Amino acid sequence: MVSVETTLDPKANLIESLKREGLLKSKTVEQALLSIRREDFVWPGYGGSAYFDEPLPLGDTGQTISAPHMVTIMLEEAELCQGLKVLEIGTGSGYNAALIAEIVSKRAKEIDQPLVVTIERNAKLVQFAKENVKRAGFEKTVQVVEGDGSLGYPQESNEMIYDRIFVTAGAPFIPPFLEKQLKPEGIILVPVGEMPYQTLIKAKKVEIARKKYELKKQKLMGVMFVPLLGESAYQS
Ligand code: SAM
Repeated sequence: MVSVETTLDPKANLIESLKREGLLKSKTVEQALLSIRREDFVWPGYGGSAYFDEPLPLGDTGQTISAPHMVTIMLEEAELCQGLKVLEIGTGSGYNAALIAEIVSKRAKEIDQPLVVTIERNAKLVQFAKENVKRAGFEKTVQVVEGDGSLGYPQESNEMIYDRIFVTAGAPFIPPFLEKQLKPEGIILVPVGEMPYQTLIKAKKVEIARKKYELKKQKLMGVMFVPLLGESAYQS
């Protein structure tokens, strides 16, 4: 008897296995994973591994595109919906930013304002991600910025700008400017801890007194990310 798994294409196979593992829970995230082609975001030569549930190297940069299970966990925990303004620290390939854009903007390719801002410190990856995001049709929805995301974007702004913040690199603590730039009731996801292991933290900004806010933190799970390097992070 032929098993269902072998009859599915690699992407459908991966999606089924993420569901079986209980990681992929919502139709919203499933739809985004189906729509965005991971093969368009992996480094040239890695297309055949695009639907392996593994992080893959991004050329000689020493950085990686995160594993699909990690991307899925963060997307689910972010509780995304249409119209949210999102900041991502650590663009890498641009894959996660495109998935976020697909969710927060129903007709992403037609919308004229960048709902997703993603910041990357490695110039080579900024270029790579810009090309990938454009090819996927999200150049108007996703703004790729070069810089140190540990200071937020715009850097060192005290304005509450974002509904959601994703940090896709391991930080020693939650960078203060990221906390400041989160809107009330906003959610930040950030791996915090020493290298190479961290704890994925989900924190919601709650008002504890008039115009006084605090992060209500939840520890989700042990994770392994490359380090967040910057002024308000690990020193390079
Ligand atoms: N989200 C990415 C994707 O979808 O491909 C994967 C991110 S990769 C695991 C982490 C990225 O964070 C690396 O590309 C690294 O250069 C970047 N990074 C590390 N420190 C940073 C900082 N302070 N500001 C911006 N990017 C940073």
